[in-house]
Amino acid sequence: MSLKSEASHPLPKAGILDISPYVPGKSAARGAKIYKLSSNESPFGASPQAVAAYSSKSNLLALYPDGSAAELREAIAARYGLNAGSIVCGAGSDELLQLLAHAYLAPGDEAVYSQFGFLVYPIAIASNGAKAVVAPEVNHTTSVDEMLKCVTPRTKMVFLANPNNPTGTYLPFDEVKRLHAGLPKTTLLVLDAAYAEYVRRNDYESGLELVATSDNVVMTRTFSKIYGLAGLRLGWAYCPAHVADVLNRIRGPFNVSAAAMAAGVAAINDQKFVEAAIAHNEKWLVLLTEQLQSLGLKVTPSVGNFLLIHFAASGKKTAGMADAFLNEHGIILRRMEAYGLPNCLRMTIGDEEANRAVVSALTDFLK
Ligand SMILES: *Cc1c(COP(=O)(O)O)cnc(C)c1O
Repeated sequence: MSLKSEASHPLPKAGILDISPYVPGKSAARGAKIYKLSSNESPFGASPQAVAAYSSKSNLLALYPDGSAAELREAIAARYGLNAGSIVCGAGSDELLQLLAHAYLAPGDEAVYSQFGFLVYPIAIASNGAKAVVAPEVNHTTSVDEMLKCVTPRTKMVFLANPNNPTGTYLPFDEVKRLHAGLPKTTLLVLDAAYAEYVRRNDYESGLELVATSDNVVMTRTFSKIYGLAGLRLGWAYCPAHVADVLNRIRGPFNVSAAAMAAGVAAINDQKFVEAAIAHNEKWLVLLTEQLQSLGLKVTPSVGNFLLIHFAASGKKTAGMADAFLNEHGIILRRMEAYGLPNCLRMTIGDEEANRAVVSALTDFLK
């Protein structure tokens, strides 16, 4: 038997080459001053205490980090009143979402996410040979009924970003509980709460309670958004003990860097900094929504640190034309074609100067 195959180079597993790579937000535009509002990064940057903790590791780069991330898990546990053993840290929550899919999905399995859900989910699902099943949304909001209709005996995972990116909409806790109640005990519900800190709604819960009281729910959180540490890659998952055990078996033994852990501990202990970011966002979320609406633009009601702005489908005021115009003025928002929202742009809430620059440029564009 010949060991030679037809291929001229090594080939990846079936399905890998069908994956559309994730396209990050642009970071370059024309103009002296650039306002990058394309990746939901914090206009406040990181806490000065986190920056100092990061720098303090610079003369220890030869040493491996603590692979158990004990200090960071203890800091997170203390902040939220959790058991540190139920926390697993990762290089961004993206890594944790990938590890969960890697552990629980195999060819033949299905995983459900909602129509305008975060695009990391289909990548994680397809990377493991499983089938992504997409539940239609209603008014750019996840529909629990539609999600549950998609569940079959093959459904191993359900991904829910709450609030969701890029729509900014959220599900009240009652609805999340209804979704959970409709799932088989063997289906893992992943609650991606990347924007939880920004939400100011009495009926919202990030999922801590549901994880603590069930065996098939995981919540993921990130230091990339309100903590302003996206460049360091740091996230965490709160899991039932059996899921934490699984993640700890398959993750890289040193998956989080020493500098990231040090910065994360300092960041979570500087809640004053977080409060300032929350207050700024709360104010500008309302102001920007009103100002954009008064320009005649439809804005999806958001509880996050970003807005989904809708433009005309044809004519001279389309999303593509708005994007080009904004780029000319040094403003970068996020195009939404990859999400099936070609008539929308997503705007991260920036600092006051950036926010005013967007409103002013869109006012000129729409004249
Ligand atoms: C930004 C974001 C994340 C965070 O990803 P990290 O890997 O932690 O930077 C996770 N989920 C959603 C929905 C996001 O928008």
